[in-house]
Amino acid sequence: MTSTAPKSPTVGLISLGCPKALVDSEQIVSRLRAEGYALVPEYGQADLVVVNTCGFIDSAKAESLETIGEALSENGKVLVTGCMGAKPEEITAIHPKVLGVTGPHQADAVLASVHQHLPRPHDPKVDLVPPGGLKLTPQHYAYLKISEGCNHKCSFCIIPDMRGKLRSRPLGMVLREAEQLVERGVSELLVISQDTSAYGVDLKYQQDFWAGQAWETRIHDLARALGQLDAWVRLHYVYPYPHVDRLIGLMNEGLILPYLDIPFQHGSQKVLKAMRRPAAAENTLERIQNWRRECPELVIRSTFIVGFPGETEDDFAELLDWLEEAQLDRVGCFKYSAVDGARANALPDPVPEEVKEERWHRFMQVQAEISSQRLKRRIGGEEPVVVDRLEGDTAIARSYGDAPEIDGVVIVENPGDVAIGDFIDVEITGTDQYDLFARRLD
Ligand code: SF4
Repeated sequence: MTSTAPKSPTVGLISLGCPKALVDSEQIVSRLRAEGYALVPEYGQADLVVVNTCGFIDSAKAESLETIGEALSENGKVLVTGCMGAKPEEITAIHPKVLGVTGPHQADAVLASVHQHLPRPHDPKVDLVPPGGLKLTPQHYAYLKISEGCNHKCSFCIIPDMRGKLRSRPLGMVLREAEQLVERGVSELLVISQDTSAYGVDLKYQQDFWAGQAWETRIHDLARALGQLDAWVRLHYVYPYPHVDRLIGLMNEGLILPYLDIPFQHGSQKVLKAMRRPAAAENTLERIQNWRRECPELVIRSTFIVGFPGETEDDFAELLDWLEEAQLDRVGCFKYSAVDGARANALPDPVPEEVKEERWHRFMQVQAEISSQRLKRRIGGEEPVVVDRLEGDTAIARSYGDAPEIDGVVIVENPGDVAIGDFIDVEITGTDQYDLFARRLD
């Protein structure tokens, strides 16, 4: 008996430049080989060509551009990486037909582009993990991590010491993962990081390619691109920088959910400064009002810390006033507790435990009233909700305003024929402090 093994997809790689570029090329070919791609030496044998360029001096740039031109005319499917990729416009101006451009030391991004244009071979003997990786969340929603680390130095936090500076994942790679998740049945993508608004800063917002289009590695472009997938897109850990204003337009276009998770942590400028919070100097109340004017259904969730060292009764009163004015929808509150190694531990005037406790209760009381008033405004409205679980004759669902695990739920009695992960249209009929009650329409 004879059997014909399926042909492996083939990649040709041309490596120009110095030993550092060669090491990058070695990494790329090793990983391609490990994934089952075959490496070939001729343009004519390759399904796709990767050119690793050098941009050190003018003659090296000229050689790189000439090689890209040659690969395009001999093969046609060309990805460009390496030093010249740091300025993609210099390449695309001359060779607009290249499929994608990435900078130096970006093996992850190169692999993501290869997957996009020449799908990974599937080997059931070694492919025990589905594309997009194993997920521990229910099948209908998934977390999408867009970066690692953080450039801030909040005095109560040791994450930057543990995980280092911000390292954004290449945009094409994030989008490819999102696409795979949606293909696997995920209908809600929860975008997470330590600082979502800073996405792409470390990559200097470099250009990347996805779905035949050029995008900048920044949160606005990423959110707009994610909005083209058939899924709810929910943004977590956003800071109130001016450029976040542009995301509100995407909510109005229906591309991302009108929901923002912004960890404000306090309302007093003095305490925020002691916390060394990002965007501490921004006028957040004004910003929130503008967002709400532009997108009235916007739901904002946040977290706060009470009893931070040096927080006086006046500072706390300022926080309560801030809360009254901000009218946030969903809020979590923590009593400050020292984290080993955090700079805040050295701050003077610790707040006694019983004062923290008392402030926490006052905070929760004020916010409970605000949250319940905000929820009441939705009574009578008609909205789609997604079903998370079934309890007897009741569906426990979530609306656009409820992130899984951290926010409330929508309780739908007698929803009829429905399965976990289904979207159903409901009319909101009532609320309690945190949850909504609804009846199914249709
Ligand atoms: S708390 Fe501050 S330092 Fe820590 S991860 Fe968040 S933004 Fe970065």
